Amino acid sequence: MTDQRPLASVSLDVDNLWSYLKTHGDPGWEQRPSYYDVFFPTVLPILERLGLRITFFVVGCDAAVPAHEPLLRAMVAAGHDVGNHSYEHEPWLHRYAPDQLEAEIGRAESAITGATGRRPVGFRGPGYSWSPTLLEILLDRGYLYDASTLPTYLGPLARTYYFWTSRLTAAERAQRAALFGSARDGFRPVRPYRWALPAGRTLLEIPVTTTPILKTPFHLSYLLYLSRISEVAMMGYLRFALAMCRATGTEPSFLLHPLDLLGGDQAPALRFFPGMDLSGRRKAALFARVMGVLGEHFRLVDMTTHARAILARETPLRVPDAAVASAAHSPAPPSVTSAVADVRPARAGAGGAASNAASGAASGAAS
Ligand SMILES: [Zn+2]
Repeated sequence: MTDQRPLASVSLDVDNLWSYLKTHGDPGWEQRPSYYDVFFPTVLPILERLGLRITFFVVGCDAAVPAHEPLLRAMVAAGHDVGNHSYEHEPWLHRYAPDQLEAEIGRAESAITGATGRRPVGFRGPGYSWSPTLLEILLDRGYLYDASTLPTYLGPLARTYYFWTSRLTAAERAQRAALFGSARDGFRPVRPYRWALPAGRTLLEIPVTTTPILKTPFHLSYLLYLSRISEVAMMGYLRFALAMCRATGTEPSFLLHPLDLLGGDQAPALRFFPGMDLSGRRKAALFARVMGVLGEHFRLVDMTTHARAILARETPLRVPDAAVASAAHSPAPPSVTSAVADVRPARAGAGGAASNAASGAASGAAS
């Protein structure tokens, strides 16, 4: 009998030790310290025990390190999927000029393909950074989907919390100002859709799922934060978020980060990060509980599997706002992450609807 449950995809952004230190403004990140040798031997057996095959979004410059190759090969050999998470992991991709962005994506793709033997077909921008130019580059390079958006009103709050203990200067804070997006990201859809791009082309967008209607996050980092208040509250909130997904026909795309599974005992340099006082053992137990609840109602798959299934159905078509497109390379980026207009459903391959849709874009935009 075939499994009739709706799908939920699970992905993990392999942000390395150095990228956490860099975001936090800590010295020494330039030497690119790595925890790959601890992370992969920890996470692969956990996923194996739970029977999960997920997508790892890999940062290109980490894939280019020869010592990482056996670990990445082991990940692929265990049946996991690979996505592109940029080369330098800079969360301001929307400020890049088109040729610079093309080089960034292509360089990451080559490094990841070289290290894993798999060419990525999905992309997630660091810090949920995104631009219309990025989407066109992904299409030109044959990508199946983008997964860079996080539709939530809580981005600015998350940013404040994140920078609370950082050692960044005012200039560095300004540079990172687009991290976690703007409040306007909340107007973006939670369910997958197709970006309508020039010349009738479309690219599938699979947002990081937030609670439908409320747009509150429920990725694992957020759940672990809630678990500190109460594990009962965490599980109650997760069940509520998933009930909302079922009620609205939303198939979740569930996001993980290395620190969701690595304990403070395994990454001592990051002990100052929220939740790093928990042990790896404790985190693995919480992870298993969360995946158990997710798996009660959804069939858990990697993102490429999910993308192919979505592409076989009817998917709404949306146009990047004209103001967004023109602001994509301006030095003042917040409008880049603003809303899109809902246009009309399109069947797989019905890219011709895109040009008609473009004229309707401005009306629904939030500036
Ligand atoms: Zn990242």
